[in-house]
Amino acid sequence: MTSLEAKRHTLAHLLAAAVLKRYPHAKPTIGPAVDNGFYYDFDFSGGEKPGEEELVALTEAMRAMLPSWTDMQGAEVSPEDARRRFEHNPFKLELIDEIASKGETLTLYTCGGFDDLCRGGHSEHPAKDIAPDSFMLDRVAGAYWRGDEKNPMLTRIYGLAFNTKEELDAYLAQREEAKKRDHRKIAKEQGLLVFSDLVGSGMPMFTPKGNVIRSAIIDYSRELNAELGFGEVHTPNINKGELFKISGHYDQYKEDMLTVHSQYVEDEMFLKPMNCPQHTQIYASAPRSYRDLPIRFSDFAVLYRDERPGELSGLTRLRAFSQDDGHIFCREDQIESEIANVLAAIQKALSTYRIGYWVRLSLRDPEKKEKYIGEDSVWEKAEAIMRGLLTSKKVPLKEALGEAAFYGPKMDIMAVDAIGREWQISTIQLDLNMPGRFGLEYTAEDGTKKTPVMIHRALTGSPDRFMGILLEHYAGALPLWLSPVQARVLPISEKHAAYADEVVTALKAAGIRAEADATNESLGKKIRAGKEEKVPYLLVVGDAEVEASSLSVESRDAGKQGAMPTADFIQRASEEIRTRK
Ligand SMILES: [Zn+2]
Ligand SMILES: [Zn+2]
Repeated sequence: MTSLEAKRHTLAHLLAAAVLKRYPHAKPTIGPAVDNGFYYDFDFSGGEKPGEEELVALTEAMRAMLPSWTDMQGAEVSPEDARRRFEHNPFKLELIDEIASKGETLTLYTCGGFDDLCRGGHSEHPAKDIAPDSFMLDRVAGAYWRGDEKNPMLTRIYGLAFNTKEELDAYLAQREEAKKRDHRKIAKEQGLLVFSDLVGSGMPMFTPKGNVIRSAIIDYSRELNAELGFGEVHTPNINKGELFKISGHYDQYKEDMLTVHSQYVEDEMFLKPMNCPQHTQIYASAPRSYRDLPIRFSDFAVLYRDERPGELSGLTRLRAFSQDDGHIFCREDQIESEIANVLAAIQKALSTYRIGYWVRLSLRDPEKKEKYIGEDSVWEKAEAIMRGLLTSKKVPLKEALGEAAFYGPKMDIMAVDAIGREWQISTIQLDLNMPGRFGLEYTAEDGTKKTPVMIHRALTGSPDRFMGILLEHYAGALPLWLSPVQARVLPISEKHAAYADEVVTALKAAGIRAEADATNESLGKKIRAGKEEKVPYLLVVGDAEVEASSLSVESRDAGKQGAMPTADFIQRASEEIRTRK
């Protein structure tokens, strides 16, 4: 069977053929398969270029040509021959020279009378393999030749392609739904976040409302950490470079770290991109015995990574963010129970958030054992433990051979949101390297010194990023315990305002985040505003309610609940908040 990637790649060729037919002056450059489809970059500088309005016609042209694309054939060509064929295309000539100078062979692929220089990986019989309604052209964008802004700007045409029309339609529907749920839009509507050019890109500020959500996420992780036996530590944001030289981040990661300068000391310093090296220093601050282990530290410090400005987006990619981070220092015989407990806590959290998930288990490449550090027996045991736990808990699992870090295997928790999108949120990672680099040790039962094993783990990952995921997952309608405003009291007229304030005071005293709508609008308008803002409970108060010390409850999720005594509502809402329902 032809892989989807091969079909997508083949469609990039078909796109180039269709473009050349309509725009003979176009110069095709490169066209790979990508997530959800393919693209091709063209130079249209010799004449007119297509806009988005031409994409339907171009898609039709591709579909019309497809039946004649019966066989895709490849043949080796000499550099001279290749240069002759592409003599009018400086982009292809550059590629030919580059490939030839490396001594690699050049291949030319031909289908339906269209030739392209290519490495291969196509559908062999496109007309048979590719359903004409399984793809469509999607959008036009500018792209620099080879991604370098010093090079000419080309026109990139993106296409979407799947195995069937149904899959294409499902993707389009999901994308439409994703637009409506965009957390940047929701955060703006609900007043949760501020980005300021004066502060800098990728560095969000949370308003009082937004910070309620962020704090609720952190408090929950904190509760789970306490159940797991973690002690929360507090660590500084700035570190000497020396620390990262020992940890290995300096060599591996320096380009992603932001530097800090002091006017008093010469030390090279960095804003920290992760907490692990600091936690080794807390471990190392006292002699440890086998009886003290496991030692577990959690930390919510803000971390900094020097992301490219173009790649920053809302809360999903940030320069400043925190993690519900934690490190376990333990003996080898404790690895299993520690990983099992952390996994159970992650499962509990995701069930509370009503988010689906699967786990990517990243293992060592057994053919290349020399690439990894640590003893064979520890690797084998750890991998078997992780696989066994996931299997016995029936967690959907994909194994990724060769994807482990050189210092240990890991589980990546992939959350699946309400519209089927996947987000990597957290990790449980075994580390057989860092404790040794920092010379960490404990006294074993027999009196000898041994090196502890370190486990890096997060529960739901970054609270900042997770808040963005949750806003999209719930389409802005957060569960009661996460909602910045949990209940809004709506007085029918001005003469009920004093009673509304009384109710708000009672709710607040019970720990419910409540406010009154004191505007002069009609009740209908107040209700509409509350619904638009996705407030979980709207509490209407008029003459009857004042008389009976009650409220008329309208629940966002369950509809009209009728009148109930204020005390009853407080009890019900408090229970819902406490149990995070
Ligand atoms: Zn190709
Ligand atoms: Zn770590």
